[in-house]
Amino acid sequence: MSKLILKPGREKSLKRRHPWIFSGGVARIDGQVQSGDTVAVYSSHGEFLAWAACNSKSQISARVWSRDEAEKIDGEFFEHKIRAAMAARVHPTIPAESCRLVYGEADGLPGLIADRYGDTVVAQFTTAGAERWREEMADALLRATGAARIYERSDVDVRELEGLAPRVGLLRGDEPPETIAIKEHSVRFLVDVRHGHKTGFYLDQRTNRHIVGKLARDKEVLNCFCYTGGFSLHALSEGVGHVTSIDSSGDALAWGKRQAALNDFDESRATWMEADVFKALRTLRDQGRSFDVVVLDPPKFAPTAAHAEKASRGYKDINLLAFKLLKPGGLLATFSCSGGISDELFQKIVAGAALDAGVDAQILRRLTQAPDHPVLLSFPESAYLKGLICRVG
Ligand code: SAH
Repeated sequence: MSKLILKPGREKSLKRRHPWIFSGGVARIDGQVQSGDTVAVYSSHGEFLAWAACNSKSQISARVWSRDEAEKIDGEFFEHKIRAAMAARVHPTIPAESCRLVYGEADGLPGLIADRYGDTVVAQFTTAGAERWREEMADALLRATGAARIYERSDVDVRELEGLAPRVGLLRGDEPPETIAIKEHSVRFLVDVRHGHKTGFYLDQRTNRHIVGKLARDKEVLNCFCYTGGFSLHALSEGVGHVTSIDSSGDALAWGKRQAALNDFDESRATWMEADVFKALRTLRDQGRSFDVVVLDPPKFAPTAAHAEKASRGYKDINLLAFKLLKPGGLLATFSCSGGISDELFQKIVAGAALDAGVDAQILRRLTQAPDHPVLLSFPESAYLKGLICRVG
């Protein structure tokens, strides 16, 4: 077995149970390794620290599988970890039939994401280590979940940083149906695991859609970056006065309308608008429109901290415009799913936007990712989704 030896003093982060070893901390690797291979990690004075998957092509040279020297990293190990992750999700706040089953590092399985939609499990392998064990992980997922099929959606940008090409297709079982019906609280959604964003759906916003939907009764709501209408459908189910949903994707909007019909919602209460949100907010302002509730759920503007400055300008712009569109007493539900923007920075941006919009605003509630996307305390990078519900004076 090859050994990865750390530079003196560079074992500290591993000892704090962080799962990553950065290239700068590596003294040498003894033995021939290929990306994804398992290595034994040792401190400079020869103390065993962990079993990890190595990758010379990435800034993150290795990711920890286990800190137990007696552990054998194999299919059985992965099945055990997957079953543990699933057991942790047997909880009244997590719907068993559609949820995230495995959330990478946060579940001790760097590079593996697995989402369940009924009897279909969609898997993403985002690191060289997960890629190396793809077959074993697929078998383990099939055994642990009893799903009819495992479908792969490894078409994520982060794979490029690991030197891996995107890959999509059936892994186990038979082809998934064109649409899979799931229920989120009382709302029915249709998931397209082949073409939908991420693994087909934004499961991470489940709790927040429910919370924001509850605020919509009889209200005039504007849902920006609506995708297939997640927040809008919850608002409709709660008896919204009217909801305007904006997205740049005509296909996503068509899907939203289809889902509204599936739920028998009153069509006259919903307007679907294909537009660039940055432009549409200005147009609405110029038309003198105003709303009781505005939702902003943009895509990731800052995947890493390096993009934070440009991203901050984007967030500031849309939040400022949203504040201006709110009626007195109105609510802004604003989100950022950028890993590169901290909670603190996001709050500062929103505060700056309120200031420039000339409004006093209060935070009524802080929101985060749904509990099937848990945050590992020793791995703060697993927290990425933040949201604020603000009330303007
Ligand atoms: N709130 C949604 C998820 C939003 S994902 C849910 O609960 O399911 C972000 C969406 O923003 C995507 O649908 C994407 O098409 C859209 N988008 C990205 N840039 C945009 C822009 N400049 N204007 C309008 N929509 C945009």
